[in-house]
Amino acid sequence: MFIHSGRTRRVVSDYPHIFRVYRLSEGVERFFGSGTFFAEEKMDGYNVRIRRHKKQMLAITRGGLICPYTTEWVQSWCGRYRFDEFFNRYPGSALCAEFLGDNPYNSKRDRSLPPGLSFFCFDIMQPDGTFLPVEERYSVISELGLPGVRSFGMFTFGDIKRLKEIVLDLNAGCREGLVMKKPRSDGAIKFVTAASDLADLEQFLVFFYDIEPGFYTNRLMRIALFVQEFTLDREEYMRRTGAALINGYSRLENYAGSFEDFTIYTRTVETWDLLKQIILKHVDVVSEEPRSTVIDGMQLFRVSFRRRHKKSSGRFREILSGQKE
Ligand code: ATP
Ligand code: MG
Repeated sequence: MFIHSGRTRRVVSDYPHIFRVYRLSEGVERFFGSGTFFAEEKMDGYNVRIRRHKKQMLAITRGGLICPYTTEWVQSWCGRYRFDEFFNRYPGSALCAEFLGDNPYNSKRDRSLPPGLSFFCFDIMQPDGTFLPVEERYSVISELGLPGVRSFGMFTFGDIKRLKEIVLDLNAGCREGLVMKKPRSDGAIKFVTAASDLADLEQFLVFFYDIEPGFYTNRLMRIALFVQEFTLDREEYMRRTGAALINGYSRLENYAGSFEDFTIYTRTVETWDLLKQIILKHVDVVSEEPRSTVIDGMQLFRVSFRRRHKKSSGRFREILSGQKE
C-alpha cells in the first residue's frame, strides 16, 4: 500500500502469507529442523496493520484499504494505549494485530470478549517489510502495555509432546490454533484445530454457493487428519462432524436466505456511511438504522447489518422449492 503525501510516497508492505501444515509433528520437524521456534495462539479475527501517518493512526486491512471503522477504534484507544510511544521508538514501522469482537469483516464472535472491538498484536513490521525478532517484540509489547497474542514460549522439535498438549487444550477450548515462528521472525507456519474447522463448517454451510468448495473439503480432510494425529475418539468426531453438517443445514428450515450477521459500534454515523461505501462495493448488505447506545461509558452507535450471500440465497431457494436440476 502506498501513502502519498506531498512529494513523498510511503510504502506499507503486505502482511505475508503464513504457510499451513496439515500435520503438526511432521510439519514442525520439516520447517524448523533442529532449530528453535516460538508458538503463539492463532486468533480468529481480521488482520490489521496500524501505522502512524502525520500524527494520525491509520488501520490498514489485508486488502490494502484504510478501514474507517477500525481506524476510528484505534484513534479512540490513543489515550488508553501508548501508540505514540511505540511509533516514536519504531518510526515507519507497522504494528500488526488481529482485531476481534464486533466488526464488519469476520462474523465469528468470541463470546468471551467485551462488546465493541478488541485487538491483539502479533508482529511488528519494520519499514523494510521485515519483522522485529520475536523476543524483542514480546518485550516492547509488554513494556508499553499493548495487548498481545498469547505466547506459549520457545520450543524445539524435541518438545513436540508438550506442543501437542497445548494444541489439545486449544481444541478443547474451541480456539483456532497455533502460529509457530522462527525467533528472528523470518518464517512461520500455522496449524488449526479440528474444533475450529468444525465450527467453520457448521457456520458456513449455508453460504455454500458463495464460497469455493475447497473451503469445505479442505476442512473435512483437516478434521480427519487431526483425529488421526492426535488419536482422538473416532466415534466422538464422527458424531461431531455429522452434527456440524446437520446443524449447519438446519438453517434451511424456514429458510429466508443466506444471511451473515454483523454488529458494529461506531462513534459517529459518518463512520458507518464511509464503511458502508467500502463494503457495498463487493457485498450485498441489508442494514438497520444506527441506534444510539452506551458501552463502557462511551456514547456509540450500534449498527446491525446482514450480508446477503447472493448465489446461495438463490440456489437454496430453488432447491427448497422443488426445482429440478
Ligand atoms: P494467509 O494464509 O495468506 O496468511 P488467511 O486469511 O488464509 O491468510 P489465516 O488462515 O487466518 O489467514 O492465517 C493467517 C492469519 O492469522 C494472519 O494473517 C493473521 O491475521 C492471523 N493471526 C492470528 N494470530 C496470529 C499470530 N499469533 N501470529 C500471526 N498471525 C496471526
Ligand atoms: Mg484468520
